[in-house]
Amino acid sequence: MSEETAYVPLLGGAAQCLREGGLVAFPTETVYGLGADALNKDAAGKIYAAKGRPSDNPLIVHIAEVAAMDRLACVNDMARLLAESFWPGPLTLVLPKREIVPDNTTGGLKTVALRMPAHPAALALIRQSGVYVAAPSANISGRPSPTTAAHVIEDMMGKAGYIIDGGPVGIGIESTIVDVTGEIPAILRPGYITKEMLEAVIGKVMYDPAVEKPMEGVPPKAPGMKYTHYAPKGELTLVELSTDNQQQRVVHKLRELAEEKRRQGFRTGIMAPKETLSCYEGAADILVCVGERKNQATVAAGLYAALRKFDDADVDYIYAESFRGEGVSYAIMNRLLKAAGHRVIKV
Ligand code: AMP
Ligand code: MG
Repeated sequence: MSEETAYVPLLGGAAQCLREGGLVAFPTETVYGLGADALNKDAAGKIYAAKGRPSDNPLIVHIAEVAAMDRLACVNDMARLLAESFWPGPLTLVLPKREIVPDNTTGGLKTVALRMPAHPAALALIRQSGVYVAAPSANISGRPSPTTAAHVIEDMMGKAGYIIDGGPVGIGIESTIVDVTGEIPAILRPGYITKEMLEAVIGKVMYDPAVEKPMEGVPPKAPGMKYTHYAPKGELTLVELSTDNQQQRVVHKLRELAEEKRRQGFRTGIMAPKETLSCYEGAADILVCVGERKNQATVAAGLYAALRKFDDADVDYIYAESFRGEGVSYAIMNRLLKAAGHRVIKV
């Protein structure tokens, strides 16, 4: 029996809930999603209410077969090639939408975002329900995305008909979003699938300018990118090296900042990877480990859970090491910089 088939007997109620226009939270390989029937405008509308999500922030439509692309979108060769190469997986493709996709699902845009998730429970749920599943991350808007069912319960208990527990997710940050409507595909949101991985399949790919720096007065193409996502309740500041690689100076600065705020009577937290965590002993009210620096995939997997721990501990000021680099680090920094409101101290 495949992993996906093993889920089938467990998902009858949840699948029916989706068919009847209800909300179901489910695991994917990236983060947990809050799903509804993508072609039922009232069902999709419930997602915005449950999350407190602005109505202009469109949803990603989750499908279980590549063939479903053509029912929902006008598909070009580039999109087909990317889908065949990376699905099921953490890649979302933005394409011109077809008439059947309601405005509630696309936030009024003429494009639709499509993804085939790689989690067996997600695929089983989509197939069993027989609907296409519109789903953003299953967090209250502005909170870190959920990477365990416990996070979903914190935010969505009583709002979703079902919450499916698939254990902690594997990747931990949201999918790479690529706009394939133009001549050169543009990354609207970096993720686990990197620019280099995409370029190996389709040639030149660019970053949408808004990924690097949100531009004053120019709305980003992925409307979600303009909101202060992933914000912990405490004020987060990143500390990084400006030139050499004496990590010791970062440790010194982080300790100094946290100790100063603590003297002023605030609750403080420090977030660091396993390699340096013990260097911060005694400098803050709580220390939170975020994976291993030498294995950045573990940092991605632990990032949102770490940020939630500071919320649980009611921390006022959080100081964290930064994770500049290539590949998945690029996506980690994209999320961290937003969580920090771009507050970075260089030493
Ligand atoms: P979430 O799943 O919570 O990360 O939210 C979905 C993300 O996909 C948001 O950042 C949206 O702005 C983005 N998105 C969804 N549909 C589109 C679309 N048609 N064009 C551009 N971005 C989209
Ligand atoms: Mg989200």
